[in-house]
Amino acid sequence: MYNNHNNARSTNDPVPVIIVGSGLAGLSAAYTALQSGATSVYMFERAAKPGGNSIKASSGINGATTGDDAFFADTIRSAGKRLAETASSEAKVQREHLIKILTERSPQAIGFLSDLGVDLSVVTQLGGHSRARTHRGAGKTPPGVAIVSTLLEKLKTEFGKGKFRLLTGCEVTKLLTTTHSDGAVAVTGVEYKTEAAGVEMLRGPVVFATGGFAGDTHGLLSRYRPDLSGLPSTNEPRPGGHDVLTAVGARLVDMDSVQIHPTGFVDPQNPGARLKFLAAEMLRGEGGILLHEGKRFVNELETRERVSEVIMKLPEAKEEGVLKQWDVRLLLDPGAAKAAEGHISFYVWKGLLKKLKVKDLAETTQKTLREYAEVVSGREGKVDGMGRRAFGHWSLGVKEWDDEAEVCVGRITPIVHFTMGGVAINDHAQVLASELGQEQKPIQGLWAAGEITGAIHGDNRLGGSSLLECVVFGRISGERAALAARDGHG
Ligand SMILES: Cc1cc2nc3c(=O)[nH]c(=O)nc-3n(C[C@H](O)[C@H](O)[C@H](O)COP(=O)(O)OP(=O)(O)OC[C@H]3O[C@@H](n4cnc5c(N)ncnc54)[C@H](O)[C@@H]3O)c2cc1C
Repeated sequence: MYNNHNNARSTNDPVPVIIVGSGLAGLSAAYTALQSGATSVYMFERAAKPGGNSIKASSGINGATTGDDAFFADTIRSAGKRLAETASSEAKVQREHLIKILTERSPQAIGFLSDLGVDLSVVTQLGGHSRARTHRGAGKTPPGVAIVSTLLEKLKTEFGKGKFRLLTGCEVTKLLTTTHSDGAVAVTGVEYKTEAAGVEMLRGPVVFATGGFAGDTHGLLSRYRPDLSGLPSTNEPRPGGHDVLTAVGARLVDMDSVQIHPTGFVDPQNPGARLKFLAAEMLRGEGGILLHEGKRFVNELETRERVSEVIMKLPEAKEEGVLKQWDVRLLLDPGAAKAAEGHISFYVWKGLLKKLKVKDLAETTQKTLREYAEVVSGREGKVDGMGRRAFGHWSLGVKEWDDEAEVCVGRITPIVHFTMGGVAINDHAQVLASELGQEQKPIQGLWAAGEITGAIHGDNRLGGSSLLECVVFGRISGERAALAARDGHG
């Protein structure tokens, strides 16, 4: 089934595992495939450098810690109506099953990365979570960089020469198929193109890990969510890979479920830039608050969907031409800023956050901060009118007021951040040619993991759960593809 002719390897080589995309899902699949005995892995990456959007991840990766049995329930809640109101009970079971795999295997995912040497020792609580379970390192290296660079390094050094081949600047344009006597289509390899060599083919079981389409503004995003055109994005501008999969019968699910992140930094030097830096969610988790015209207007720890929705009901800022943007400030007091030190120094260096003394803030803002400090310190039994109950490391005014204290302030606006929809998969990460809830028809020879897949997050992905799905389903797909390569079939 996997005879190779015109391609990057010779006809007599054992069957390789083919991985499309070098983000965390692809890297996790590659590592696990080699761990599971694959003789070689070929990883195709369209960009000049590996890492995809994974390398940008800044808040961390979720892992339920001992005694935390609420992760499943939190994820179900966050998946919202798409899960709760799924028309058929079979489809609902299918969705819940994927969530169970995601959450139950989260401790092993953290263990997998920690064993490779990634520091994930700091644990914080992000919006929509009922517990602290998002892991990142204690140093200044953001989690995406730490995880991706460690995996790449291990792949290059741990398994022996020639076992892992990363081909950058190589775009997979088509899946090769064969049709069985019962009419079922099976994937037998990929067609890819490089600038130097043109179109080539490689045969073997395929793991598709090409990420989402949040950066495909004028392609898939405008096809599935035309209403979002004009919003800036955190993702690299690039086309989504979904059409390559649907061409062999893959079914898509939840394609209109697109996550808007409430806090993308508006660079004062270039407010009209389309690609924006994310103001990491942990900035709010550690104590940051949001202000419009000097006043709080939302519980900052609500889900991203809710916070974005509230911001987008405020009047739009007019000055950015074709972009849709709002004028909201993110403010961190000294306690919150210290807890987020690694991030803060970078944002200040980039000019996205500015340090200001409390006494130099507008009067309305100062008044808001004083009132908020009373809530945080719980004086006279005060509770937050916005419903916030966890205040991170906020310290300003808790013991005493300090006019000279330095706060960090930056402008933020909602941005397109993540696409919940994608191809339907089963619990073995096989791509399905059947709708959710129907009798499952896995496409032989084809697996998918990471943001390219759908049905796990429903209406809203919890922060930290995307890196997690990359590791959990990347590992499942890598193991399965390795077995298929060994057996010579999908
Ligand atoms: C700024 C930012 C911060 C984030 N922070 C977090 C966080 O803290 N925690 C969290 O859980 N999630 C976070 N996310 C989301 C998360 O990073 C991504 O959803 C996740 O990393 C996607 O991983 P992936 O492996 O599926 O895809 P990607 O990492 O995007 O990798 C896909 C790769 O496939 C390549 N590719 C695409 N098509 C082809 C093709 N046809 N041929 C060859 N190559 C192809 C792309 O060039 C890309 O390199 C963040 C996202 C962004 C943008």
